[in-house]
Parts: sequence; C-alpha cells; structure tokens
Amino acid sequence: MTLPKIDNLEIRKVTEDILLIHQIKPPFFFSCCDGLLVLPKPVRNRKTIALDLNIEPRYVNSLNHIYGPVSNYVCSHGHLDHTCHVHAWEELGAKIHAPYPEANYLLDLHKFYKGFGFDDELDFNIVNHFAKLNGFQKCNHVNSFNPGDSLKFEDFKIDTISFSGHSKGHIGFFLPKERIFHISCLGFDKPKPEVEGFGPWYGFKQCSIPQYLEDINKAEAFFLKNGKYLTSSHSYFVKSPNTHPFEYMRKKIKNNQEKVDKTLISLEILNKNENKVVKKLLQMDLFFPKKKLKGVVLEIYSFWESWIIRKHIQQSDYFKR
Ligand SMILES: [Zn+2]
Repeated sequence: MTLPKIDNLEIRKVTEDILLIHQIKPPFFFSCCDGLLVLPKPVRNRKTIALDLNIEPRYVNSLNHIYGPVSNYVCSHGHLDHTCHVHAWEELGAKIHAPYPEANYLLDLHKFYKGFGFDDELDFNIVNHFAKLNGFQKCNHVNSFNPGDSLKFEDFKIDTISFSGHSKGHIGFFLPKERIFHISCLGFDKPKPEVEGFGPWYGFKQCSIPQYLEDINKAEAFFLKNGKYLTSSHSYFVKSPNTHPFEYMRKKIKNNQEKVDKTLISLEILNKNENKVVKKLLQMDLFFPKKKLKGVVLEIYSFWESWIIRKHIQQSDYFKR
C-alpha cells in the first residue's frame, strides 16, 4: 500500500493497515494530537476506525475522503489537544467514544472548565477564549465508557488502560491482535529521537506525580510483556523491547523535581507558606518562559505552571510544611 501525500500531515505505517498520523503544524498551542487510523480489513472491520486522532477539520476531511467512512472514533481524555476537532469526525458520521467523566467535556466547555479545576482561579471567559483559539467546537453525542473497559467495533477489539496520573479519565489503548500499545498523553513527546519535548504533563490539580510514576512503570511492564509497537500522542513510534520512552519520562520528572528542589534551597524558603512559594517560583519562569506570552495564553500557562510547581513542592524532601 502506498501512502498518500497530504501537505502538513505525516502519515506513518505502524503495520500494513494501521497508520499513525501527525499534523506537523498545529494552528495553535494545544489543538492537535497524533492518533491511529485502523483501516478496513476482512474479518476485522469493514469501515475505518479512528483512535484519538485530533487534527484540524480540513485534514479530517482529506483522510475521510481517502479512507472513509469512519464508523467509530475513540478519544483518550478530555484535554483540549484531544477534543478540539473531534466534532469534525462526528459530522462525517463517526460515533464518538470517550472515557468517563471526561466524555462530558466534549459536549460542554463548562464541564471541561469545572472538571479540570480552572474555576478555582480563572474566569470562564478566559478558558472559553483559549478553547476557541484552539478551534474547539463541541460534539453532539458522546458514548462514555469507563477507563479499563474493552471496546469492540465489528471484530476489532481494543483494551483501554487507565493512566490517571495525567488526568482522571486518561487512557492508553492496546490492540491485542496487532500488539500495538498507544500510551496517549503519558509523556513520551519526542517528535524525533534527537529532539526533546516537555515530557509528562501534570499541570492540573487532579494530576499526581506518584500516580504518574506508577503509570510509567505499569506501561513499561505491559509493553515489554505484550506489545510490539509503542505509539503515543506526540511522538515517533518505537518497537519492543525499546524502553527509551519510559526512561525519558522518568528522567523528565526527576529533572523537574531537581529544578524545584534547587530553587527552594537557593531561596532559603523551605518553611514558608505553600501558596507564597508557588507564586515566587512562578515568577522565575522555571518551566515556561512567560515573558513573551500575553492575554489568555499567559493566564492559562501560569495556571498550568503553578500546578506543576505545586506538585513538585508537595513531593520535595526540602519543603517542610
Ligand atoms: Zn493530555
């Protein structure tokens, strides 16, 4: 099978009939993620199935033109880079599935706003504006399932696996027959082997670093035992027994912890009020250079970074509350 050439899309064959698709330039900060297209195969699925492939509507249309119709679409969790354009698949006739409770976030931005705790600190208008900048449009109907459930479309089976350190509903996918393990947004985010990304993302109240580390260990053991190919939402794919993705993710978390620990020590602020310390560290741009950011983007990045900092302060051996 020869692959089509579509400007701004990178299409990679994981197996003969399963493609990993990446939109090279997203229109805005958090508007896209890579996902899988499961092409039709006799005795498995007569229609194409899309897994967490959140790309701009015009590319959804191009892919649908070549490989459609798409019968079902499965979303991995409720963050904007996984939900903005899902409506485009629905408009073309795909049934949308997403994990509970985040399935609701595709239907109603207020639920997204409250569900991720933005309402503790930010006005709804800020989040609404940011979502619109990313192209968010809501879906009309989403079937929700529980993280850990198995899904079946015709004779195509997917196991979902809960990785809740990133978000409560966040799941990976395992395709048992094809032995493809898609870890979604766990934090292997290298566009190429030689390019680093940010790593695991835990910029929300509900995220948990200890849970993250457990998830990474669980994913690694699972991949080595059952997987042949490892794919993810923001990265190139690897083949078993490559363990680089897991080492990379652990290292990123460790480096972030060291960054916060060092700052706490150098500022001699080991016993102060946690909120004040978060504020102080936030001004230092430890994780995101915020000088050039403004408006809603600055507000959202500051919100995320304050949680990343807080999670590390709470994990720090040097901070005594
Ligand atoms: Zn995410």
